[in-house]
Amino acid sequence: MDAESLRRLPSVDAVLRGAGAALPARFGHAEAVSALRRALDAAREAMRAGACTAPTAEAIAEAARADLEAASTPRIRPVFNLTGTVLHTNLGRAVLAEAAIAAATTAMRQAVALEYDLTTGRRGERDDLVRDLLCELTGAESATLVNNAAAALMITLNTLAQDREAIVSRGELIEIGGAFRLPDIMARSGVRLREIGTTNRTHLRDYRGALGDATGVMLKVHTSNYRIQGFTAEVSARDLAPVAKEAGVPLVHDLGSGTLADLTRWGLTHEPTVAEAVADGADLVTFSGDKLLGGPQAGFILGRKELVARINRNPMKRAMRVDKIRLAALEATLRLYRDPGRLAERLPTLRLIARPAAEICAVAERLAPALARAAGTGFDADVTSCASQIGSGALPLATLPSAAVRLRPVGRKGGALTALAAMLRALPVPVIGRIEDDALWLDCRCLEDEAGFARNLAAAPHHGPLPQAGEGEERLRR
Ligand SMILES: *Cc1c(COP(=O)(O)O)cnc(C)c1O
Repeated sequence: MDAESLRRLPSVDAVLRGAGAALPARFGHAEAVSALRRALDAAREAMRAGACTAPTAEAIAEAARADLEAASTPRIRPVFNLTGTVLHTNLGRAVLAEAAIAAATTAMRQAVALEYDLTTGRRGERDDLVRDLLCELTGAESATLVNNAAAALMITLNTLAQDREAIVSRGELIEIGGAFRLPDIMARSGVRLREIGTTNRTHLRDYRGALGDATGVMLKVHTSNYRIQGFTAEVSARDLAPVAKEAGVPLVHDLGSGTLADLTRWGLTHEPTVAEAVADGADLVTFSGDKLLGGPQAGFILGRKELVARINRNPMKRAMRVDKIRLAALEATLRLYRDPGRLAERLPTLRLIARPAAEICAVAERLAPALARAAGTGFDADVTSCASQIGSGALPLATLPSAAVRLRPVGRKGGALTALAAMLRALPVPVIGRIEDDALWLDCRCLEDEAGFARNLAAAPHHGPLPQAGEGEERLRR
């Protein structure tokens, strides 16, 4: 490429005076200039490598605009969760209720009485704001909260049993996923793990035999994400409580998901409620805010007043405390539980879990033609029943009857499914399904904004010839 052609490239200033004049106002002067420099450098590079014509100022401005646009797209992007898992940890777990969103927004926008007692004008405690509500809903004596349930367990163990033993059944030494493994959490909390029983069977006499001077706490853990079936035995918290009491050792029950409402009311399997766990006699009960409860991320510690007070005095509390935004959202979420009759309508988590299969099926039927069109002629589309799950370790074996649009590649085309999944992820609002049995399943349980979904799908590039009107529908089979 000769120097003459390179000289035909516009200067940054020239682009800024012409085709790129709008960029500084939109993205900031410095950002616009560096994007234009990058675009010009790339053009120069391409020309040296053999491109024969110098791009126009318009083309340079357009390249810079696309670059700036991409860089200013938020990284935390909304997605359509069609995975069939309602509380998907990788997709942010619970979607909040409108009341919680409004409360959080207000707390973000304005000063709030977070640690300020408006009656006396003195310093208050941030946990006071939700303690009464939690006690009212669960029957617990007292309550405190931290960043998440893992933190709740850590501070609880550290407060009650540092340098002493925590007795746990081998069948309850869980890994929740990621780095949450109970033995590691215990070690980092400064307690010594005293494993008792066997993987499948643990008896009351095992707990009794382990109790001694070194015992700091007895721990009962909800085996959230698995079940041991067959020849099994475990001791319930209710049966452990009197033994712990007699020995003068606190009993902690990590419920994991924890629900404040009786799920059988909505036709779901019974999951022990927090109120039941409290009534069963555990001294402290811990659980999550963003699992079945349907609120923001948080970890609750409920139970005996004196123990909660000790936890609040632990310096770790400061490192694990919850901010005003989440506290506001939590308070609003907890208030919804005062009116169980309207809970399913107001709390998205419950609404989605309790959504009738027939309603989900109707959604899938309505969306299938557009999905078939977006997938193109290389795929067969049908609406089929499937099973959703709650996720996040709640009722691991309970599946919820649901419906999905299933997209199967016609013939054996390697990579077609992953390419289709990638195309759906590349939409303005990424659509996330799941690949199973050589098909892409789009479970419609969590899809409430059908119109938004259809608009979003219209941005999909079309593979192969577009079907004629009506053809997409014909290709649907039940
Ligand atoms: C999910 C879970 C936790 C961790 O809860 P986070 O809120 O994710 O920290 C702890 N224990 C059990 C039994 C769980 O199911």
